Amino acid sequence: MTYAIISDIHANLEALEAVRSELERIGPDKILCLGDIVGYGASPSKCIEITRELASVTVGGNHDCGVTGLTDITYFNRYAREAIIWTARTLDDAGLEFLRELPLSHVEGGQFRIVHATPQDPGRWNYIFTHQQAMDEFKAFSEQICFVGHSHQPCIFEMMDAETIIMNSDNVKIREDRRYIVNVGSVGQPRDSDPRTCLCIYDDEQGEITIRRIAYDIEQAQTRIKEAGLPPVLANRLSWGE
Ligand code: ZN
Repeated sequence: MTYAIISDIHANLEALEAVRSELERIGPDKILCLGDIVGYGASPSKCIEITRELASVTVGGNHDCGVTGLTDITYFNRYAREAIIWTARTLDDAGLEFLRELPLSHVEGGQFRIVHATPQDPGRWNYIFTHQQAMDEFKAFSEQICFVGHSHQPCIFEMMDAETIIMNSDNVKIREDRRYIVNVGSVGQPRDSDPRTCLCIYDDEQGEITIRRIAYDIEQAQTRIKEAGLPPVLANRLSWGE
């Protein structure tokens, strides 16, 4: 099977359309979404609609849960909070209901796990940046691979025995004797200084994980963020991928 795993769309329709075109070209067997469909961007309703069409499973992210009141929004920074309040006003009841029902963790076919933030406590919205954080998280799931989002920085942690390596590669061959935490990056608001949209392909027969980047119409996404009256910083940062 070939899986496409996408995350952190953040209501960026232009980025999601570019990803959808790429997915039509690749033709994965299954598409999974790691949450944060909304927040920051100007197209929450449309992005929910497209994600529902594309993804067979979506897990909830902190922005999704902030919008529905399941997560306290005082924890977000000022701009994120403004966008969450705007999003909650913009969505219709069906959109809000969809976000409210999202699970926080899912095991796909008994084979690998998906969460937005961390497998250990997915509703606390912690991040995995360091070796030590990755080691703690490996203890919290039993599958070989866990796919995560949340940081908007694609990254692969490989664990062998009691050690974790951070792999700065966009292509990794899965080894039977090792385990993996894979951050699939962000569709709609990359923060690794590469402004292109990001998605992950996992081929379980070839045992291969690939991170792909695609250019999209950033200017159009920025124009619509500004036109919606959202904080301009949320538009500007898309240019730098930060
Ligand atoms: Zn996010």
